[in-house]
Amino acid sequence: MQTAHQRLEKVQTLICNAARRAGRTPRDVRLIGASKAQPAAAIRELAMLGIREFGENFVQEALQKQADLADLDLVWHFIGRIQSNKTAEIAAHFDWVHSVDRIKIARRLSQQRPAARRPLNLCLQVNIDNEPSKAGMELDSVDELAHAVSQLPGVRLRGLMAIPQPADDPTEQRRPFAQLRAALERLNARGLTLDTLSMGMSADMDAAILEGATMIRIGTALFGPRHR
Ligand SMILES: *Cc1c(COP(=O)(O)O)cnc(C)c1O
Repeated sequence: MQTAHQRLEKVQTLICNAARRAGRTPRDVRLIGASKAQPAAAIRELAMLGIREFGENFVQEALQKQADLADLDLVWHFIGRIQSNKTAEIAAHFDWVHSVDRIKIARRLSQQRPAARRPLNLCLQVNIDNEPSKAGMELDSVDELAHAVSQLPGVRLRGLMAIPQPADDPTEQRRPFAQLRAALERLNARGLTLDTLSMGMSADMDAAILEGATMIRIGTALFGPRHR
């Protein structure tokens, strides 16, 4: 059984090596602990080791952990599917949302963001492999949605997110990430100023960093197996 410290060291070494190979600075790759199905105590342990950003998939589960960890100064990312009856809680209790894939949700998050808070940081989720019934919008619709979302006052569009199909081969892993990066570059060439590529999980973070990931969402490699 590995300790949290050992797992974190492994992940950090992997980030450093991948960043170096890509000619990037490791600091430009933000590590988000994907903490779904992990207890608050496991998040606290990683927080004590210096990880401050965590991603949750389920609102109720996240709010409970946020309450348990209220003494810590953490940054919370919502990375799960968004039901429209949950947008008010998401707008109030998160700093980032990575999984926006329709204008209706973006509008609600913008309207419901408490006025005293800074605009909510958003990424648009792209269904990069065009998988049926998978979350995320088609790549073809990104331009239109990105420009619409960038007009909303309560949110700040930061970039794109994707969860590609699992692949074993490193070259295969890189292809969808390269497509997402190209999509971000196209949006920026058309007047947006997006700085975030949220891509890469435990099994493909190396490929994602090589293709320019600025945020990686790491669950099992950081926490060990999920308790559910
Ligand atoms: C669970 C999850 C992750 C992390 O997955 P691992 O393979 O455990 O690293 C990342 N992103 C999202 C959206 C997830 O739901």
